[in-house]
Amino acid sequence: MNRNKYWKITRRDLYWTAKVFFEFIAVIMISSVFLLASCWYLWPMIIAGFLILLVAWHAKNFAYLCPGCGEVFEVSTLKGFISPNGVNKKYLRCPRCGKKAWVDMLRIKEKTVLKK
Ligand SMILES: [Zn+2]
Repeated sequence: MNRNKYWKITRRDLYWTAKVFFEFIAVIMISSVFLLASCWYLWPMIIAGFLILLVAWHAKNFAYLCPGCGEVFEVSTLKGFISPNGVNKKYLRCPRCGKKAWVDMLRIKEKTVLKK
């Protein structure tokens, strides 16, 4: 595992993830006050849009550590969306050893996209 690029999830990271999640809920609730009555048909689209953004953000900022072989890998937004989630674990197939397991979530320290 490359320790310069990844680190184990700490309590602070969990707090941060929870904060993003609650902000997401808050935005939906606040905008519902303004939108719900007149534009109810927009709701499924808005919620789906936010969910995709949230999952895309998560896929970009987190990687996973296989407990079997120690491989660290990242997943696509779609895969992140459909695979089962724990608090700091995810049920995924490891691309190196091919085993399905609850893998540990890791924070990606520096996003390479920023350097481009
Ligand atoms: Zn593995």
